[in-house]
Amino acid sequence: MELISRYLILIMVCFSIAAYTLTLNTGNDPEITILLVSVVCFLIALWLERSLPYRKAWNLAQQDIGVDLTSAGILVAIVEPLLKVLLPLIVAVFYASQRGGLLDGVLPLWLEIIFVLATVEFGKYWSHRLHHSYGPFWWLHAMHHSSERMYTLNGLRFHPLNYSLNFVIAMTPVMVLGVSPEAIFAYLAITQPVVLIQHANINLKHGWLNWVFSTPEVHRWHHSTQPSEANRNFGNALLIWDHVFGTFKAPEGFTDEKEVGLFNSSRASYPAKQCYFSQLLSMFRAPCCST
Ligand SMILES: [Zn+2]
Repeated sequence: MELISRYLILIMVCFSIAAYTLTLNTGNDPEITILLVSVVCFLIALWLERSLPYRKAWNLAQQDIGVDLTSAGILVAIVEPLLKVLLPLIVAVFYASQRGGLLDGVLPLWLEIIFVLATVEFGKYWSHRLHHSYGPFWWLHAMHHSSERMYTLNGLRFHPLNYSLNFVIAMTPVMVLGVSPEAIFAYLAITQPVVLIQHANINLKHGWLNWVFSTPEVHRWHHSTQPSEANRNFGNALLIWDHVFGTFKAPEGFTDEKEVGLFNSSRASYPAKQCYFSQLLSMFRAPCCST
């Protein structure tokens, strides 16, 4: 348990990279590999929440399981597959009138992977900040922040429009530039384990890794009910852009008294205790959330 507590995310990322490398070398489907690795990470997170919880109270349902499971099902079964089909189609139409992407076959794979890591994380960072900065976008993002506990399923509680905007803003540049599918799949192999563990209620002590990855320890700040604490650590899986733009907040100081959930300014108006579809459609009803 000591090893897991200190290095869980690093172990997961290395396992995922190894599985992806094996897939590339054997010619198997990388999408299936990443899906299987994601399922393994998800199940391990659920097990560790029981055997190594950060807060035992966060393992108790708060009338949120229905919302979270519905959201997870819709994202995984409908939104994500649609985005994976539609965005490449749009980019293909773009290429019909162009000569091809600037980076098409230019860089070695390892350099492409670094480029994709930096570019996609940059897009996700700014998409996330946008959702914290403007009322209508915050209204969409409030679904993600409305849970009053941190646990694995939080990571899949997103308004479909919020999720789609993140995806399009982050992925369009690398696709238009003609980055190879291998590099994009490598990005997913590296980041998916982090994203799946990020909200988990696991008592990790990751030390220096908290400065690199968006671990549960640093991501808790992002879900604080205090705007000055929550408008930090926007990174999707890596924290590079939080360091660059000065929004990184170290894990120390998140005491037992700290609460997670919506800010006071949103709590009265956002229908956090209502069902998924009521929250989904609330964007069409006044009043819109303020940040
Ligand atoms: Zn947020």
